[in-house]
Amino acid sequence: MTQPFTRLLVTGGAGFIGSNFARWVIANNSDIEAIIIYDALTYAGGQDTIADLITDNRVVFIHGDICDRKALAAVLDGCDAVIHFAAESHVDRSIDSPAAFIRTNVEGTHNICDLVQRIAQDKRIVHVSTDEVYGSIKDGSATESAPLRPSSPYSASKAASDLIALSYSHTFDLDILVTRTTNNFGPYQHPEKFMPLFITNLLDGIAAPLYGDGTNIRDWCHVDDNCAAIHQVLTHGTSGDIYNIGADNEHANIDIAHLIANLCDADPALITPVEDRPGHDYRYSVDSSKVQELGWAPQHDFHSALAETVSWYRENRSWWQPRKQ
Ligand code: NAD
Repeated sequence: MTQPFTRLLVTGGAGFIGSNFARWVIANNSDIEAIIIYDALTYAGGQDTIADLITDNRVVFIHGDICDRKALAAVLDGCDAVIHFAAESHVDRSIDSPAAFIRTNVEGTHNICDLVQRIAQDKRIVHVSTDEVYGSIKDGSATESAPLRPSSPYSASKAASDLIALSYSHTFDLDILVTRTTNNFGPYQHPEKFMPLFITNLLDGIAAPLYGDGTNIRDWCHVDDNCAAIHQVLTHGTSGDIYNIGADNEHANIDIAHLIANLCDADPALITPVEDRPGHDYRYSVDSSKVQELGWAPQHDFHSALAETVSWYRENRSWWQPRKQ
C-alpha cells in the first residue's frame, strides 16, 4: 500500500546523498509539501550543496546536530517522516578518529529513535545504512538476513545504528525501516571519496592514490537510483524491514581508476599504488531482490552515468576545489 508522505525531515540533507535525495523528491514527487533539511554542516556538508534547493519555498534548511535533542525535538513536529542520512561517512577518517563516528552514527541515531518514541510515535523513520555492515564477501551476495560482520569503525558504527533502529521498531512498535546501499556515485560527493578523489586529481593532472593492488571490488549505484529506491522504501516498504539496494554493477577499483583516467583525458601513469588501507575489505555485494519486489530497479547505465559524473566535476570546480584544501 502506498503511503503519501508529504512533509519530510531529511537529516544530513546538506551532504552528498541527502541533498540528491531532496533534489530527487522535488523533481519526482509533485505532492511534496515540505522538505526540512537538518544538518550540522560538518566538513562534509555545505550550504552551497543545497543552494539550488532552498530557492524552492517548500525546502527549509535548519542548522542542527542530531545529537542535540532539544533542537531535534523542535523540528520533528513539522514532518510526517524522517529520512535519516546524517552520519560520519568516510572509512579512512573512522580509522584515524573513530570517536566522532560513535557520537553521530550511534548516539545520533539513538537520539532520533528515542525522541520519536517519546514525542512523535506517528512518524515513519527510514534509517539509511550501508552494505559495509555485512563485511567483506568473497562470493555471492548478502541477503537482508545475512550476519553482520562489520570490519571498520565506520561500518561497525553503522551496524550498531541499524541494530538500535531495529530494536526501537521491535520493542516500541515504531514505524522504522532500514536501507543498506552499495557505493554511490554522482554529483556533490566530497572529493575525499574514491571516485571524486580520482576525478579531481586526474582533471588537475596530479597523482591519484590507489590502495594496494586495486583489486578490491565494489558495486556502484548511481545516487539517483539510490534516492529512487529509498523513496520506494519510504512509500511502499514494510515497517520493521531491511532493504538492500544494489546495482549489480561490480568493478575492481583499478578498473574504475582507468575508466576515470580515460574520461579525464589523463595519463594512466598518474594512477599511483599506495600502501593498502588497514583492514581493507575485499568485496561487498548485496542481493537486492527484496527492494525490486517493491517495484524499483536501477535506471542508470554505468558508463554513461560515470561520464556524466566526470562532466559534472569538470563543470563545477568552484564546488570541489575549496574542499580539497
Ligand atoms: P556525507 O558525508 O556526504 O554527508 C553526511 C552529512 O551529514 C553531511 O552533510 C554532514 O554535515 C551531516 N552530519 C554529520 N554529522 C552530523 C550530525 N551530528 N548532525 C547532523 N548532521 C550531521 O555522507 P553521504 O555519502 O551522503 O552518506 C549519507 C548516508 O548514506 C550515511 O548514513 C552513509 O552511511 C550512508 N551510505 C553512504 C554510501 C555512499 O556511497 N556514500 C553508501 C551506503 C550508505
